[in-house]
Amino acid sequence: MGRTVVVLGGGISGLAASYHLSRAARPPKVVLVEGSERLGGWVRSVRGPGGAVFELGPRGIRAAGALGARTLLLVSELGLDSEVLPVRGDHPAARNRFLYAGGALHALPSGLRGLLRTSPPFSRPLFWAGLRELTAPRGKDPDETVHSFAERRLGPEVASLAMDSLCRGVFAGSSRELSVRSCFPSLFQAERTHRSVLLGLLLGAGQSSQPDSGLVRRARAEHWSQWSLRGGLEMLPQALTTHLTSGGVTVLRGQPVCGLSLQAEGRWKVSLGDSCLEADHVISAVPASVLSKLLPAEAAPLARVLATIAAVSVAVVNLQYQGARLPVQGFGHLVPSSEDPGTLGIVYDSVAFPEQDGSPPGLRVTVMLGGSWLQTLKAGGCASSQELLQQKAQEAAATQLGLKEPPSHCLVHLHKNCIPQYTLGHWKKLESASHFLAAHRLPLTLAGASYEGVALNDCIESGRRAAARALGLEPDS
Ligand SMILES: Cc1cc2nc3c(=O)[nH]c(=O)nc-3n(C[C@H](O)[C@H](O)[C@H](O)COP(=O)(O)OP(=O)(O)OC[C@H]3O[C@@H](n4cnc5c(N)ncnc54)[C@H](O)[C@@H]3O)c2cc1C
Repeated sequence: MGRTVVVLGGGISGLAASYHLSRAARPPKVVLVEGSERLGGWVRSVRGPGGAVFELGPRGIRAAGALGARTLLLVSELGLDSEVLPVRGDHPAARNRFLYAGGALHALPSGLRGLLRTSPPFSRPLFWAGLRELTAPRGKDPDETVHSFAERRLGPEVASLAMDSLCRGVFAGSSRELSVRSCFPSLFQAERTHRSVLLGLLLGAGQSSQPDSGLVRRARAEHWSQWSLRGGLEMLPQALTTHLTSGGVTVLRGQPVCGLSLQAEGRWKVSLGDSCLEADHVISAVPASVLSKLLPAEAAPLARVLATIAAVSVAVVNLQYQGARLPVQGFGHLVPSSEDPGTLGIVYDSVAFPEQDGSPPGLRVTVMLGGSWLQTLKAGGCASSQELLQQKAQEAAATQLGLKEPPSHCLVHLHKNCIPQYTLGHWKKLESASHFLAAHRLPLTLAGASYEGVALNDCIESGRRAAARALGLEPDS
């Protein structure tokens, strides 16, 4: 009898793991189990009036680096090349990023000239922060918060304006709690290896080997910063699902896994309410906190570690305006916590992907709400009020972008616990989880956003690596 691998969770990580398992030279029997009726997890695109596309979760995938290239390869393998909408390097959405601080929008400086000028909201040219970085001594701690790292290397202003905003934009979290080692591993490593982040990034650039394909070469030649798909990013999980079901993978939907137990022969019993599955290996692509509740008593130490990997909630408010114009052209802007604790940032969707504006075209922006403001609302039981979230988002769009007329279309979604937080010492949690798995020879592999990167490229890579481990291969082969 052949081996059976059960994959828990049909978000992008579980789909990617199943895809790579199904393409093995001698594929095992693969069963993908998803708790909800829909595959794709947080990747969800919906159509609005006139066919406009609204992303409720991620809206762009980075093209750069080895992981960016691997995802583009996957896109080609799935036959989606003609659906790709690139943001080329010379496009305003690739070049321009803004901060909203002191009641005004400020372009983040770029190029040498930009760095030599004083660019508000910074009180001195960023050149000085760069000089400080080049001469600052190497850190000694095994981990550090992003804020402390940035303050030590680049100064307090860059830490509290730029890095604070970046952590809110990427992780919807606080730079004073998030770990630099786990959230920005390339910065952490650059300092360890080259003593300076700037030197490390400069010297280390372009060293990784990348997969090659027509699409990857095009992305490189045109310097794509990111890309989407014509019908929205959900086309990617949809194409993966079609590929899996036509390739013999069993895909179960609406079947939440409610427990895992180990049998005498070292196989897993996966309980699904009134039925169960047997597996030689399990790949978990559900959030760490969910897995912690499914594990059997023998794995209690692992469950305790996983339970500490928490996630934060984000309210995503998609707005469309007819006949409106933005004051600036760019990817979007971020908002430091000192300016507005509730608005993480606003993405100018129409600038990056005008093809998704519908007909007649309407200006699309997405307001991301979160941070301490949302936590306080949640604690008071008010966060589920759609009206309150819509009002807050419209106010932010009016104040920060001058979009004062009521929107023609609005969608409000509160995503509970959607972004895992790699807080200080996250690396120790990962180390202790992998020691436990190795020491007890548990046929279990962890994948997904809870561990080593929340971006879609990281999640897809975690699925690929998990599949290789489940097949007994070296992850990089
Ligand atoms: C608002 C938002 C915006 C984002 N923007 C970007 C972006 O622009 N670019 C980017 O690269 N990344 C972005 N991200 C990050 C990225 O989208 C996520 O990190 C990624 O989609 C997570 O995928 P996953 O498969 O690991 O987890 P999930 O999507 O959480 O999938 C886990 C799956 O497991 C299922 N599940 C849970 N419990 C059980 C159970 N008991 N049994 C069976 N199934 C279960 C869930 O239903 C879900 O389908 C964004 C995320 C959010 C929330």
